[in-house]
Amino acid sequence: MNLDRYRQILADLAPHHARLVAVSKTKPVEDIQTLYDLGQRIFGENKVQEMTAKYESLPKDIQWHLIGHLQSNKVKYIAPYVSMIHSVDSLSLLTEIDRQAAKHNRIISCLLQIHISGEETKFGLSEEEATTLLDDPSFTQLRNIQIAGLMGMASNTDDEKKINAEFASLKNLFDTLRSKYFTDQPTFKELSMGMSSDYHIALHHGATLVRVGSDIFGSR
Ligand SMILES: *Cc1c(COP(=O)(O)O)cnc(C)c1O
Repeated sequence: MNLDRYRQILADLAPHHARLVAVSKTKPVEDIQTLYDLGQRIFGENKVQEMTAKYESLPKDIQWHLIGHLQSNKVKYIAPYVSMIHSVDSLSLLTEIDRQAAKHNRIISCLLQIHISGEETKFGLSEEEATTLLDDPSFTQLRNIQIAGLMGMASNTDDEKKINAEFASLKNLFDTLRSKYFTDQPTFKELSMGMSSDYHIALHHGATLVRVGSDIFGSR
């Protein structure tokens, strides 16, 4: 673990009023507890089973953010406690999150994951698919989810111009969707973008949540 990097990242985020999602996937609960003792409360995991095991053994005021691809049949395991789901990429998944959240009398915050990198392997909605989802009459019936914003991953490249363009396009879509669908909903406010290698670029494009793992916890 690199606690100096952790403190440096917090200092980098502060002037932008952005918050850190400490991505602890594959790392032991001891490492999470160390950051918790320093005041960190938001942790990100990409697997349901791993996140649930960590939830059960760590302090209950941790805010668990699911950042990895989520299958509908696994929503039930995280619905009792998850704080935010960053990886919503279909109306059917959103409908299942709503159904499970209702069972626990909760409203679960969700981000729509947008595909911004030209890469084939990354999950996410296109701009058109996001609009189609928000226009769907059944979307407006969902009472136990709240769309809190957008999430995106830039291409895995050293080309800063390309990364800049991808984050700029996500910010642009965020502004467009907010003014079209969420003008009366101040809870649509989160832009989750930036990881260890590119969070400093994401901050310049208005990231409100950055998801940093290896920089803090070491390589996986
Ligand atoms: C693993 C992961 C991160 C963190 O990546 P690092 O390069 O370790 O900072 C961020 N976002 C998602 C979706 C991830 O799966």
